[in-house]
Amino acid sequence: MEDILAINGGKPVRNKFLPYGGQWIEYDDIEMVVKTLKSDYLTTGPKVKAFEEKVAEYVGAKYAVAVSNGTAALHGACFAADIRKGDEVITTPLTFAASANCILYQGGKPVFADINPKTYNIDVNDIEKKITDKTKAIIPVDFTGQAVDLEKIMELADRYNLMVIEDAAHAIGTEYKGKRVGSISHMTEFSFHPVKHITTGEGGVITTNDKKLYEKLKSFRTHGITRDKKLLNNKDEGPWYYEQLDLGFNYRITDIQCAMGISQLSKLDKFIKRRRELVKHYNKLISQIDGVIVPHEPGYSNSSWHIYVIQLELDKLKVDRKKIFKALKEENIGVNVHYIPVYYHPYYQKLGYSKGICENAEKLYERIITLPLFPQMTNKDAEDVVKALNKVIKYYIK
Ligand SMILES: *Cc1c(COP(=O)(O)O)cnc(C)c1O
Repeated sequence: MEDILAINGGKPVRNKFLPYGGQWIEYDDIEMVVKTLKSDYLTTGPKVKAFEEKVAEYVGAKYAVAVSNGTAALHGACFAADIRKGDEVITTPLTFAASANCILYQGGKPVFADINPKTYNIDVNDIEKKITDKTKAIIPVDFTGQAVDLEKIMELADRYNLMVIEDAAHAIGTEYKGKRVGSISHMTEFSFHPVKHITTGEGGVITTNDKKLYEKLKSFRTHGITRDKKLLNNKDEGPWYYEQLDLGFNYRITDIQCAMGISQLSKLDKFIKRRRELVKHYNKLISQIDGVIVPHEPGYSNSSWHIYVIQLELDKLKVDRKKIFKALKEENIGVNVHYIPVYYHPYYQKLGYSKGICENAEKLYERIITLPLFPQMTNKDAEDVVKALNKVIKYYIK
């Protein structure tokens, strides 16, 4: 009875559904929020500044600008990089749409470079092939938490005079050759959506070591308005005076959210340690299952592991990914797929992108499944996942 798949009417491996991710909020996080609610500032106050300082210190960057979400952070970075109509920006298709949408917000054109089939991250050689005299920036994504090969990407950027905006929404705490991401690229974006490593409900940050970019990001977050005397056209109007110098947005984050962020950040190392333990456990058990490929991590990256993505060896299986996915779900395992190649979306198809641009990403997309990974998961939860995977793969293997 045990071995009959739940999808065929058997008993599921778990009685209770295991989600693929989720936040970890404790009483002290809540206390920090309540304290801020009772304070004088709900927005543009001291908690925002303190959170920015702590994030900058954590990643080893000079400056950090906190905004309302990771997508706003990417938009701000594209503004600060001066992306305009006609400019091309190179990114990966194997990402959340926001990594490319931010280019469109500025009127730029996303150009997709293929992935490396081993690391799943953007292929540096393909980036170079896609560079034209219109290329202005690169948006590499640290997919699943693994660092892209930053040294090589920065070297390319130097050679072609490009700006690097790293999408590290998956990768806070990840190290590249011993240095944390957020301290290396011209600008790095992080997200604090509940499914990410730490959360502020919604929230995002851009880090940079460049004072000019920092000033632009700060102004963009608040309508393009400044009170900075040095920047004003009319310096003698009066003490109430400010000027709007650019078309910015209201992308501010609240002090309430930042209070939560400060509390969450103090636990990040603990969360990452647990994620790494779970991945080690997964790798050990899943690498023994024929028909499944576990993530490969190159030597230059020490991932903080946002998600755990397995690859199915479809030639060894009797069914496709859809069937395996459904069967795992029926066993009460919260599986997911990261990601549908960005240019597959109807909006991008309408813009003129067609299938076939990035062969490796398209092939991988047919074969990937994301398994549950979050720090509150127990070893028993992880073992249930492996048990379900074993059961399903064994049934469908040729
Ligand atoms: C989550 C995420 C974002 C955007 O973050 P939000 O805070 O949800 O706006 C951008 N890029 C990637 C790769 C992400 O996973």
